[in-house]
Amino acid sequence: MSQLITGGCMCGRVRYQVLGKLRDIVACHCVQCRRSSGHFVTATACRRREFTLVKGETLKWYVAVPGFRRGFCGECGSSLFFEEDGGERVSIAAGSLDKPHGLKIAAHIFASEAGDYYPIEPSVPVLPRGGHTVPLP
Ligand SMILES: [Zn+2]
Ligand SMILES: [Zn+2]
Repeated sequence: MSQLITGGCMCGRVRYQVLGKLRDIVACHCVQCRRSSGHFVTATACRRREFTLVKGETLKWYVAVPGFRRGFCGECGSSLFFEEDGGERVSIAAGSLDKPHGLKIAAHIFASEAGDYYPIEPSVPVLPRGGHTVPLP
């Protein structure tokens, strides 16, 4: 069963939809993902033919590694897409989806490039809101 999935950037100038299914999430800890996101990237993915760019007036692409490009909103800076030239898959930043879709992190990749300030296994407290008790130094 295909479902209509929607998402977009923070300012709303880039909007997309997927008529199909989303892959479970891959967390990428590579240096480029860490720099572009400020942490690491969690991305779902769909087939290209199931993906439609609904609004893309401010969509920009950046090539960090030849053969691959990263799509982001040039206005608000949101990281959105990652794709291989001519590839059949569009990777989509999981945080840009409008609604929860029951996706889970299924793999961590480029763990050898991960930052040294976080564990990769989710062994830290998981809080529903920002009310943590981590003290200031
Ligand atoms: Zn935007
Ligand atoms: Zn990466």
